[in-house]
Amino acid sequence: MSSLFGGLSDKLMESTGRKSAPGKADLIRVTDTKRRLELLDDFEHAAIGWLWATDAEGRLIYISESAGSRLNVPLDQLLGRPLASLLETDPDDPDAQSDRPFKFKLNIKAKINALTVRLVGDAGRQMWWSLTGQPKFDKMDNFLGYRGSVKDITAEYERKLENTRFAEFDSLTGLSNRHRMEKRLESTLSAYKSASRSCALLMLDLDRFKQVNDSMGHQAGDQLLKMVADRIERVIGDKGEIGRLGGDEFQVMLPDYDDRGQLGELVDKLINLLSQPYPIDNKRAIIGASIGIAIAPYDGLDREDLTHSADLALYAAKNGGRGQFRFYTVDLKDEAEERSILMEDLREALADNQLELHYQPVVRTADNMVVVLEALMRWEHPERGNVSPAAFIPMAEESNLINQLGEWALVQACTDARAWPETVRVAVNVSALQFANPNFPSVVSAALTVSGLNPERLELELTESVFMGDSEQSDATFKTLKELGVRLALDDFGTGYSSLSYLRTAPFDKIKVDRSFVDSCTQKDQNSAKIIAAIIGLSNALGMETTVEGVEAFDQLELVKSKGAMYIQGWIYSKALRQDAVLARIESGDFRIEPSGPDKFRSERRKVFRRIGVIHDDHRYDGLMRDLSVTGAGIEGLVGVPLGTGLVLDLGAGQLVICTVIRSDDSMIGVEFETSLVGDGSGTLCTRHRVSPYALAAAGMPLSALPPGKYPMLINGGAEQRKPQFMQVDISTAKLKAA
Ligand code: C2E
Ligand code: CA
Ligand code: CA
Repeated sequence: MSSLFGGLSDKLMESTGRKSAPGKADLIRVTDTKRRLELLDDFEHAAIGWLWATDAEGRLIYISESAGSRLNVPLDQLLGRPLASLLETDPDDPDAQSDRPFKFKLNIKAKINALTVRLVGDAGRQMWWSLTGQPKFDKMDNFLGYRGSVKDITAEYERKLENTRFAEFDSLTGLSNRHRMEKRLESTLSAYKSASRSCALLMLDLDRFKQVNDSMGHQAGDQLLKMVADRIERVIGDKGEIGRLGGDEFQVMLPDYDDRGQLGELVDKLINLLSQPYPIDNKRAIIGASIGIAIAPYDGLDREDLTHSADLALYAAKNGGRGQFRFYTVDLKDEAEERSILMEDLREALADNQLELHYQPVVRTADNMVVVLEALMRWEHPERGNVSPAAFIPMAEESNLINQLGEWALVQACTDARAWPETVRVAVNVSALQFANPNFPSVVSAALTVSGLNPERLELELTESVFMGDSEQSDATFKTLKELGVRLALDDFGTGYSSLSYLRTAPFDKIKVDRSFVDSCTQKDQNSAKIIAAIIGLSNALGMETTVEGVEAFDQLELVKSKGAMYIQGWIYSKALRQDAVLARIESGDFRIEPSGPDKFRSERRKVFRRIGVIHDDHRYDGLMRDLSVTGAGIEGLVGVPLGTGLVLDLGAGQLVICTVIRSDDSMIGVEFETSLVGDGSGTLCTRHRVSPYALAAAGMPLSALPPGKYPMLINGGAEQRKPQFMQVDISTAKLKAA
């Protein structure tokens, strides 16, 4: 015992320059002020800890000199200034709440116990201190100031921060991890609830990531995820918080976003940027992204509900074909389940011969002769009616059913084409996944053999995504196909990632300009027409043909022709025809088609069939919406409504639309909306804004996510109702058949 303490005191004695008498300790007495001061000096110099003191006004009147030498600030700049203005707690301190308690404690002269602080505005390398202090009072209980000690805990604290960062952030991308996103969402939503603010949540899932990961390796997959994170950050910036939940799943929280028009534009931008190719290891990886969007408070009030809604919207986006976004709506419920049922149905449809190929003509503008018929797959589902190939082809791709589907289409199309004139080729769409299958050339070759079709009459339509993954493999496939003698067309050119280098490296005979350019070329977008002209010029220069897709109206036809288009495919000539219709046309002589269609391209007015509420004064009528466009609708159910009447339509789920009657004809009225609707990602239209459940809560409704039903209290408000001005036609038993 004594030797232990003896050793320590020896050291202390040495350092203070004293010699202890052997065997007897030279104790420092409480009364020995001088030696006690020396002891303190040693303590401060050794930086075991430092001492500090404030005066009654809270100003720093003392701090150990060696503390000053470690700081980037000279001591005399600190001394005399209020302690509360010098030190602050760390807002990122995982254990601290905020720095209020520090100032608050000083104010109420409370004891400070090992509080982590740093110097305010210290630009240099930050030092972290653990601050302890005791208020000092005189006998009369007057406050004299604090006396305390600090300890440098920089190393430990930084380690702690690093560990929490590890626990809160994704180590690969540096984005927030699932845990942090959950916390942030939880706290944001609960804060916003009391402030009646809105918050959008995006769930983002990469398309085809698994294929890239499998074909290019995990390291490439990791690199890709990092680039994806960068691109998301570029689009989102400081508008919100981005997280990676794991795998290829990302999430974005956008506080104070509720305008669905604005959100649609933002996610469109996001999907576009994410669909550009990624240079990895001298190769290109091409993926896409699907996004589901839910908005609090409309689609959920708390984290769990909102996340569930966003998940459902994401499933729906994936169901609708990839590279899309979708807003949550109440009827999305269990799309995931629906999807797997639909998958099974598709498998059966293929086995039971329920799938058909229809053929859409490509016409030579010079003489209106049909030169190609493109095979488009059609599936008439026994319960759902027509299912779009844009929806079921991606589904088939996910399950590898695509190889069987594709093989069937090739054989069927080649066989059908045998019955056509020699001058008409057949075009068959080939999915990138089919193309990536090393077996693909032999599938093509077999289809030619079985059908006996001249290879020159077969045109394979490929999209740029065939360039993803293994380029040696794709080079080999291109070579074999050319040896077989078939023609190759680059489909959907101009969407996503059009790179001119593809045109140089791959043996294409034709480019198909995507429909989206034609859609917009006669609208405000002047660039689209220029781009069409440029693509045609380029393709001519490379000795290729160009087909312009999706021409519907004469104004488009004239414009596209003036830009040099020699081949056109679009509804102005014909939609896709059954084989028997094709054969009938051929029977009747020349296979020539005159264009016919509207003079001007107009954004589609869709036929719909939907029960809605029509509100006028304080009365609510039942209406049946029969057609709908961005700017207006046709509604059945009210008689005697004068032109110019102002109405409010209740489209459900808080979507109220202010409109004016512009046509009135018996029980059918036409209305024009005050504010245009926006797309929900699926081609369905929705309002930009919705009636907030907070507004409903203020009117006495329970605060929960909006039910799908009606909101009569908005107009009835309990007040006495006047007599309805218009006659209500009973639509409950109307010839209820969707057009
Ligand atoms: P795609 O290859 O770009 O086919 C053209 C699409 O545009 C077709 O849609 C066609 O009906 C539509 N279209 C043609 N002219 C007009 C027009 O003037 N106006 C409008 N609004 N649309 C027009 P569809 O038949 O729904 O096919 C969608 C996509 O599904 C196709 O796009 C293609 O990518 C894919 N697909 C269809 N059949 C097959 C197939 O047998 N195999 C594969 N792998 N994909 C297929
Ligand atoms: Ca095509
Ligand atoms: Ca196309």
